[in-house]
Amino acid sequence: MVDVVSGSPTVLITGGAGYIGSHAAHAFIDKGWSVVIVDDLSTGSRSRVPEAAAFIEMDCADPQLSAIIRDRAIDAAVHFAARIKVDESVADPLGYYKANVCTARAFFENAHLAGLGAIVFSSTAAVYGDAGGAAVSEESATRPESPYGRSKLAAEWILADLCAVSPMRHVILRYFNVAGADPEGRSGPAAGSQHLLKIAAEAAVGIRPAMQIHGTDYPTADGTCVRDYVHVTDLAEAHVSAVTHLLGGGGSLVANVGYGHGASVRAVIAEALRLADRPFAVTEGPRRAGDPVSVVANPARAMDVLGWRPRHDNLQAMLQSGMAWERQRMAGEVSSA
Ligand code: UDP
Repeated sequence: MVDVVSGSPTVLITGGAGYIGSHAAHAFIDKGWSVVIVDDLSTGSRSRVPEAAAFIEMDCADPQLSAIIRDRAIDAAVHFAARIKVDESVADPLGYYKANVCTARAFFENAHLAGLGAIVFSSTAAVYGDAGGAAVSEESATRPESPYGRSKLAAEWILADLCAVSPMRHVILRYFNVAGADPEGRSGPAAGSQHLLKIAAEAAVGIRPAMQIHGTDYPTADGTCVRDYVHVTDLAEAHVSAVTHLLGGGGSLVANVGYGHGASVRAVIAEALRLADRPFAVTEGPRRAGDPVSVVANPARAMDVLGWRPRHDNLQAMLQSGMAWERQRMAGEVSSA
């Protein structure tokens, strides 16, 4: 057991040059942990790696990583490295299974061979599929509807099966709709992301003159889809909670990361218009294929067992931090990656 209060544990973060991984790296560093980032920069950006982190440009499936884990006395790993776009996964299933299943399996093997005892795995609410609108608990059925969701669930199974026959313990975090940027402006969403909060933040700062609502005839209060948007800074904190749980001797578990309530597309856009530097046009379009009506987490386990305490449960804060990041990008102050 590692004393995470008085000691300074070292955490390995794969995919730490990406959106969520870089926020997690900052969260660990802010708490005084040592961070080693492994990223092949296939989708991540070197500019997102915090200065205080050690950086190794490497595919996390590379067998050499096992010796690195041992030599650097890594206490725990967080595995973010993955591909994350649902539509892309439909078009390129082999690429997605390679990145999200084969590479994950190889990384888990590297960790296992190094004798690592604690892994946190970055998973997604997409493993549940359409839960029919009820708040989703970890016991809800897993019915992923895309190669992306299936690839993440397959990797969850590999990790759980490995931990069943080894001293390794794991926390699987299933993220709901991740949004926003670091309040200190150190990282933010990737360029080209098509998620609602990112598009709304871009419209609100004038990067795009208009945005569209994908479907207004859903059986919700205002006819648009509902999602549980979670601030990336709170999500990053959930990883610190998960690693702390494992290093404190806690058992393996799966935990949802969301706030337990949702916002509709119209509510998000109304807030973005309220905050906008100048008005932008909003058009109403048809439904987007495959969109479930409502996806909301039951986050009780993350709070009760992991001790996760979200502090940014606020649509305004998510949009404002996202807008600040877009302004930095427009001003060329941060890499456009
Ligand atoms: N959405 C929208 N307009 C946009 C982008 C997204 O109406 O420009 C809707 C989308 O159809 C879905 C919700 O916003 O109902 C959340 O979409 P997002 O892609 O952010 O997350 P998802 O839940 O699909 O992973």
